[in-house]
Amino acid sequence: MSEIYHQSIGQLAAALSARRLSSVELTQAVIARTKAVEPLIHAFNSFDEAGALAEARASDSRRSAGQSRGLLEGIPVGLKDVIAVDGQPLTASSRILSNFVSPYDATVTQKLRRAGAVLWGRLNCDEFAMGSSTENSAFGPTSNPWDTKRVPGGSSGGSAAALAAGAAIATLGSDTGGSIRQPASFCGVVGIKPTYGLVSRYGLAAFASSLDQIGPMTRTVEDAATMLAAIAGHDERDSTSYSAVIPDYHARLIAPNRPHKLGIPREYFGAGLDPEVGAAVEKAIEYYRAQGCEVKPVSLPHTQYCLDTYYIIATAEASSNLARYDGVRYGMRAAEAADIDDLYARSRAEGFGAEVKRRIILGTYVLSSGYYDAFYLRAQKVRTLIREDFLKTYQEVDALITPTSPVPAFKLGEKSDPLAMYLCDIYTIGVNLAGLPAISVPCGFTASGLPIGMQLIGQPFKEADLLAAAHRYEQAHDWYKRHPSL
Ligand code: GLN
Repeated sequence: MSEIYHQSIGQLAAALSARRLSSVELTQAVIARTKAVEPLIHAFNSFDEAGALAEARASDSRRSAGQSRGLLEGIPVGLKDVIAVDGQPLTASSRILSNFVSPYDATVTQKLRRAGAVLWGRLNCDEFAMGSSTENSAFGPTSNPWDTKRVPGGSSGGSAAALAAGAAIATLGSDTGGSIRQPASFCGVVGIKPTYGLVSRYGLAAFASSLDQIGPMTRTVEDAATMLAAIAGHDERDSTSYSAVIPDYHARLIAPNRPHKLGIPREYFGAGLDPEVGAAVEKAIEYYRAQGCEVKPVSLPHTQYCLDTYYIIATAEASSNLARYDGVRYGMRAAEAADIDDLYARSRAEGFGAEVKRRIILGTYVLSSGYYDAFYLRAQKVRTLIREDFLKTYQEVDALITPTSPVPAFKLGEKSDPLAMYLCDIYTIGVNLAGLPAISVPCGFTASGLPIGMQLIGQPFKEADLLAAAHRYEQAHDWYKRHPSL
């Protein structure tokens, strides 16, 4: 049996309910582990030890009184530092919010509390979730626990690294173009990007509102089902949230042979795919075939336009969302300013990092009069074509299987050219543009010991099918039982 900080929610929930373990003991173990590994990985922007222990004590009391709130009762869960927690810092890994304390809980935070979770730490990420390596954090990069000279992926790199290192039992990330799935694949954990609208965005620091979704990062697929069940559902404070009844993800995990027909999108296995990653995903495809799934090649012909479309729409929305950081209402304010315009300019110039500025400038440009039709409007039309590509394949297959990222974790500092970094998201951003659910599941390791992830892409709101397919594969392999030797 592994150390308790490496166990799954499923294992720990059983130990807690059998009284073999208390939430205080578990939380103390996670805190001690965090302190031991943090100098090596820097996954956290902040944590509140006393607060977490108080929540753990409250959880133990509820349990003693027979009032357990379910599987998450007493489990320490870390949150990406773009999700609001009442009374805790919320920085989005940006200097502009370095002194900001949130006066309210995000809806997902409230839901985790209601499910009995212990909130543990604010996890590092790329500034405002813009990036693929967590190197764009104003507070310094996070390292990959499997090789600390390498990136954990991004933007939810802290959420993935903390989880892989045993510094949280489960975490939340956010995914606008791959930010849950790509770091999950780089760190050897499970990450699910829900269908757009399944999880409320209320209290999430907005990057690109038509693409952003919060989702779980966990050690097992079963844990992902547990976390997703806790955070999904309609929220009147997010008008884009979905109002239908949420299925029982747990009960559906063992659904026999769903999905049955898997599509292999040709465009996701071309140039640029690392051979070891390609081979691992091919083996996973073989597994499904051997299990009796029908596997067939499909095409998503507009894939070649995904990056361009994403970097127009995402930057346009970012330029609008980030206009609120003006140095007046909250966040950092420049010390010296001649007048109000100078105050805005200086606060934003001092507060935002290079990548965020690049995107604000790009987004402002594509929205400016004279360019709006040529860029923004056209990108919206292409976005529709990209979504239609996926929906057409779903007339033939139930789900798609692809690599999550074309490459395994790269070295810190290796990708200094923004375009080289943007190319890392080539297999994940189409899913966000189409608003679909997708899960990244560990599917092997490179010869040098780096985790590899595969992606299953599903139909709108059919997370239960994705989880079932991922669970089946996971349980037939033992990738999830390995931990980095930090
Ligand atoms: N890496 C992509 C970007 O830089 C996606 C980020 C995300 O999903 N938040 O925009």
